[in-house]
Amino acid sequence: YRHGEASEVIVPTPNGAVAFGEHHPLVVVAGPCSVENEAMIVETARRVKAAGAQFLRGGAFKPRTSPYAFQGHGESALGLLAAAREATGLGIITELMDAADLEIVGEVADVIQIGARNMHNFSLLKKVGAQDKPIVLKRGMSATIEEWLMAAEYLLAAGNPNVILCERGIRTFDNKYARNTLDLSVIPVLRSLTHLPIMIDPSHGTGRSEYVPSMAMAAIAAGTDSLMIEVHPNPKKALSDGPQSLTPERFDRLMQELSVIGKAT
Ligand code: PEP
Ligand code: MN
Repeated sequence: YRHGEASEVIVPTPNGAVAFGEHHPLVVVAGPCSVENEAMIVETARRVKAAGAQFLRGGAFKPRTSPYAFQGHGESALGLLAAAREATGLGIITELMDAADLEIVGEVADVIQIGARNMHNFSLLKKVGAQDKPIVLKRGMSATIEEWLMAAEYLLAAGNPNVILCERGIRTFDNKYARNTLDLSVIPVLRSLTHLPIMIDPSHGTGRSEYVPSMAMAAIAAGTDSLMIEVHPNPKKALSDGPQSLTPERFDRLMQELSVIGKAT
């Protein structure tokens, strides 16, 4: 069991430092699954900022199930994230899939995301752990809590103490009606086992936009430190994960609903 105080991850952004942790206010990360073009990413950034998000998410390098599906625009999308950062001052969170891209991703990302599919990629974890940017480590879709914490340990052991654990749903015996099973019981469990800040992603956790708000609220009630929510200006036209993406209007309403619950700090 955990020894000592909760750790905090403090991320400098153009709008000021944002702190993740048990004793800090809720942090919200929002944005599209993939960065599609400059207009959509800048518009989404403006909308999620107006609603109260502190970070913009968006994939440049996408880990898609099918090699024939949209793979992300890669390096050019990093430039579009930089434009959105410039326009809004939001911090940027984006996924790193290949250690070869560490330098270019690190130039624009304020936080580097390691995706569920790479949670077990120990050589990638060692390399990301050896650089300075804070890291969001998503739980592998079939990873036990112990495996997840050991993956985090790879980052810490490599020298980077700024790690946030993100639950994004796991595979269970029934994922017919929801894409994954969002394991909200990890919130109190992680609290008892680790000092690291917690993030919940109800978008990948459910796969359906209509289920996202209730799970976001439940996550706050259970004590999460942060949320990651997919938002797209036109979900029906999204190049990836449209069915689970909120419109900016729905996201704005959710943020108002969340503020009623509030976070115990
Ligand atoms: C994502 O955040 O868009 C993503 C691919 O997440 P995960 O790694 O949890 O599937
Ligand atoms: Mn996605």
